[in-house]
Amino acid sequence: MMKNLLVASTLTVVALAACAPAFTPAPTAVPKPTDPPKNTQALPTATTVSPTAAPIVIAVPKAAKPLNLSASTVFVRDALVNVTQGIQGITINGIVPLGADPHEYEPTPKDVKAVSDSQAVFINGAGFEEVWLGKLIKNAGGSRPIVDLSEGVKLNKIDAQFQSEFDNDPHYWQDPERWQQAVNNAAKGVAALDAGIADAVKKNAEAYIAKIQETDAMIKTEVAKIPADKRVLVTTHDAFSYYAQRYGFKVVGTVIPGPSTASGAATPRNIKALVDKIKPLGVKAIFVEEGVNPKLTEAVAKEAGIGVIEKLYLDTLSDDKGPAATYLDMLRHNTMTIVGALK
Ligand SMILES: [Zn+2]
Repeated sequence: MMKNLLVASTLTVVALAACAPAFTPAPTAVPKPTDPPKNTQALPTATTVSPTAAPIVIAVPKAAKPLNLSASTVFVRDALVNVTQGIQGITINGIVPLGADPHEYEPTPKDVKAVSDSQAVFINGAGFEEVWLGKLIKNAGGSRPIVDLSEGVKLNKIDAQFQSEFDNDPHYWQDPERWQQAVNNAAKGVAALDAGIADAVKKNAEAYIAKIQETDAMIKTEVAKIPADKRVLVTTHDAFSYYAQRYGFKVVGTVIPGPSTASGAATPRNIKALVDKIKPLGVKAIFVEEGVNPKLTEAVAKEAGIGVIEKLYLDTLSDDKGPAATYLDMLRHNTMTIVGALK
């Protein structure tokens, strides 16, 4: 049912593009260089505040009409912030808040209002929002244009050892190469809503993708410091397979048995099996995950006699003061944490 909704809604975006008014330059609307980008003001994870992410400077266009965009996850919102950087008249509403678990999210009345006020809802796709998105859209009027960032992304099947409600592993943002396609999809989705800003959005996407590629190269350099036989990961839930695949790690176990934090309770039997499995492998550390209760992970580590390393950001980001305020910060933080623990 959801697939039909997505297809129909994607077409709606295309239809909207056809009737978008032509862009008229408005020189008086150009902000002074010191002005913060308007579209990031309401966002606790504004990319521009990161000391490591230089602002992307482009000619400053303005949306013909105010554009309200909803973003399902913090990563989708981050992509939208980057591709709309410096463009006036755009408001981005993030649905799942920072630190919340996107697998288990319960939309609020505020989300319903924001979605019904949005010209389009941008989603991670790959089934990630399937538990709660349909109900949210239904409550927000029954149909909203949807831009699915997973369109054209090569997805992995869920690991056969896990029983899951998903067919595909939705955590593809953990692979920077796959996420570039998502950023392009976000840019196309925004451009389709307003032809006048299409060029600026495309340039933003290209500049941001270059930064993702730089970060990808940095990760490869850092990971090379870990001996190949030590590139072994135990994480809280199965959210790291794309990262592992790209950088040559093996995920030997997860504390929660599956690709969702709701995949089921880790039973004493599961935990014993995990401990028995990882002990002989000489695993050096288990990683705790932001947004998920660390108690179980700590218990497994204690049982196996190995260390717990805080903390990876898999399904969420940190606030501005934290180490993973943006997508690129998250990649760097996770990599340095893993390399520090395993090299
Ligand atoms: Zn997850």
